[in-house]
Amino acid sequence: MMDPQRRHHYLQAMGIVRWQRRGRAERPAEPDCPAPRADGASPVAPDDDIGVLDWEGLRERVLACTACDLYRTRTQAVFGVGNRNADWMIVGEAPGAEEDRRGEPFVGRAGQLLDSMLHAIGLDRQQVYIANVLKCRPPNNRDPRPEEVEQCEPYLRRQVALVRPRLILAVGRVAAQNLLKSNAPLSRLRGRRHSYGEEATPLVVTYHPAYLLRSPLEKRKAWQDLQLALEVAGR
Ligand code: SF4
Repeated sequence: MMDPQRRHHYLQAMGIVRWQRRGRAERPAEPDCPAPRADGASPVAPDDDIGVLDWEGLRERVLACTACDLYRTRTQAVFGVGNRNADWMIVGEAPGAEEDRRGEPFVGRAGQLLDSMLHAIGLDRQQVYIANVLKCRPPNNRDPRPEEVEQCEPYLRRQVALVRPRLILAVGRVAAQNLLKSNAPLSRLRGRRHSYGEEATPLVVTYHPAYLLRSPLEKRKAWQDLQLALEVAGR
């Protein structure tokens, strides 16, 4: 059981002044084959055997991947971190500048806020598995392009299949829209249970911590999302 003072600290970091479990009524409604490359080079890409790769094989494939043009501008591919037997899988959009430099998803201020969000519900970074839809940083933090997501998604699908989480928490509009194959705004994707992939893994959507840093008034909604996620995950 988390020390009440520590919990208070994490809740404060989230902008939540009191621990209060929300009822449902209060919750707001809200081909694996790479394309031909223009330069004629042979891509190193997801291919047919990706669905049988083990963790190390998958990691090696990602780190060497040149299936889309993002490999040209990355410092390194960012594979994913955390507990490979986690109940919760956190999926974001793509590495930012700091992640690209350090090779780990969700670091820097946004990562610290994600840690606080997890701590506030009794989880820490070592207990969950964290990955992104895209493994390489889009230049200037632009949105991922559909063809990039198409090339990269088999890696995430395999990560989900290996972890077999009880819950996927999709953080941010881009992650949510790509995982759910939807153009709906985040406000319509939040507040309800979705499912992902052939295993129909339960999925809940919330705001990206980088957005919450810019829009702290939305932290209360993120808190509601976490309460829903707890409920869906059966914790
Ligand atoms: S973003 Fe994905 S598909 Fe593109 S080069 Fe990186 S690992 Fe490969």
